Amino acid sequence: MRPTTRALHSSIDDRDAAPSVLPLYQNSAFQAHSPYFYTRKNNPNVASFEQVVATLEGARHAVAVSTGMAAISSVLTLLAPGDTVVLNQLVYGCSFKLFQRVAKRLGLDLRIVSLSSKQQIEKLPPKTRMVFFETPTNPFLRTVDVGAVARQAKATNPEALVVVDNTWATPLYQHPLELGADISLHSATKYLSGHSDVMGGIVLTDRADLEEELRASRFYYGAVMDPHSAWLLCRSMQTFGIRMEAHHQTTLRMVEFLRKRPEVRHVYYPEVDGHQLKRYGTLVFFDLREDLVEHYPTFAKSLELFSTGTGMAAVTSMVAQPYSGSHASMTPEEKAEMGLGPGLVRLSFGLEDPEDLKADLARAFEVVEQARAAAAGGGGSRLGNRSAAPDGKGPM
Ligand code: PLP
Repeated sequence: MRPTTRALHSSIDDRDAAPSVLPLYQNSAFQAHSPYFYTRKNNPNVASFEQVVATLEGARHAVAVSTGMAAISSVLTLLAPGDTVVLNQLVYGCSFKLFQRVAKRLGLDLRIVSLSSKQQIEKLPPKTRMVFFETPTNPFLRTVDVGAVARQAKATNPEALVVVDNTWATPLYQHPLELGADISLHSATKYLSGHSDVMGGIVLTDRADLEEELRASRFYYGAVMDPHSAWLLCRSMQTFGIRMEAHHQTTLRMVEFLRKRPEVRHVYYPEVDGHQLKRYGTLVFFDLREDLVEHYPTFAKSLELFSTGTGMAAVTSMVAQPYSGSHASMTPEEKAEMGLGPGLVRLSFGLEDPEDLKADLARAFEVVEQARAAAAGGGGSRLGNRSAAPDGKGPM
């Protein structure tokens, strides 16, 4: 054989390498006898990530996909034309848009209701095929009672599928399957990654028939998680418990701080009842005092430790305006129906020292008060051109 051919087929025998952590299986193909077959079907890094999240959430099966939106899309492939689908009104903007688009294409009977209300749960339509919601909700962090929705949905139709987007509660602090949901899913891009450097999604279920369908959907539609992302996520998951503990403790202190600020009208924090939601951390919303709302860009720009944009639940803190960011893809009317205005601010607390975060926020609040006073005095902002463009310019 010529050296070029030999070089092409040259590889060390690594069967005795015995790595102490799972190496990255970056390959797309496996030998014909391998149970993994092809990375679009399965891959050791992806399987490893699935096992970690399933263990934390107490789920029998997990299917990892490319993004949180792919996780939601894969669940939507379980629907058939004409199905009745109930969507909670308070939901991530892109999920809202996705349901609207799929409903139009498939001719679904899509009902948008407020599932934080007991009365609305009691009025679920006959033959409901799927109920989809987040709890706590994005925005406003309201609770939806998973058990109550599951009982009522099954009463309208024993085949009803109850799907919970568990992203904001995390697999550590809330277990929807134990409460009666059929499917729980996550955007792994957020808390699970924790470092704003990877995208992913994961769908969990205890039902083998649903797992089979979801795996087939991933295989044929192709929204598989990439092995490098899975490898990074497994690494992130090793610090998940301590990150969440720090997020939780910091968030409690920051909520206490925000509640005392005169620039803040209301702080939104979810109901942690110890049964459905065991703990909580990181993301809170607050309403800026009305006369400060127009100065939000100055506020965001003045913060040094909070970066702007669509990221959240990472090791560093972030600030966002849901109106122009996470819910930008919704029409002004849809946002108004949700109660979402430009004065709502979302903060994601990272692992910085809470005292530094408080000092940073206090300084930004002072700057905003100065901007308001300058504008009221007719002289324009004393801060010149410091005001920033609203974050999240795209439809994210
Ligand atoms: N679900 C929730 C609750 C989200 O907040 C997001 C994104 O912000 C998604 C799903 C979508 O996740 P991804 O951006 O990974 O597609």
